[in-house]
Amino acid sequence: MKTNKHRTLLLTKSQGTITSRDLTRKYEYSPGTARSYLSHLWRQGLLARDNGKYALTEKGHSRIRYFAIFGCRRQGCPLCLGKLGHLTCPNCEHRIPRKQAKIRKQQDYLLLVRPDGVYCERCSAMILDKAHAKRLGIPWEE
Ligand SMILES: [Zn+2]
Ligand SMILES: [Zn+2]
Repeated sequence: MKTNKHRTLLLTKSQGTITSRDLTRKYEYSPGTARSYLSHLWRQGLLARDNGKYALTEKGHSRIRYFAIFGCRRQGCPLCLGKLGHLTCPNCEHRIPRKQAKIRKQQDYLLLVRPDGVYCERCSAMILDKAHAKRLGIPWEE
């Protein structure tokens, strides 16, 4: 079984902490692979280590969010099929073709202000904030 960063990070998120034995049991990584893979993710700053247990760092959490929206680019990742060329809503998994994505302008509602950003057209969750969308070259709405 080859390692998969996306699935490993998600398992860590759902369990809170993870050990190499979790990976051998769940994903059939060999014990050596599981151990060295966890320290690999630790060196990348995605996991924090404490007594042989690993937990997600802030960077690990934001990487999961990034993967949910853009896909992890690992060939054949079962979680990311069909994500290429799309923005995927991290809340409801609705997909917007990248070319159709637009930054919507700030709107004032009665009790809240919705800031500039790219929003899901189905569930209205914010997918990208303005700064991130601009860096990606996503245009403003007309
Ligand atoms: Zn993936
Ligand atoms: Zn959505």
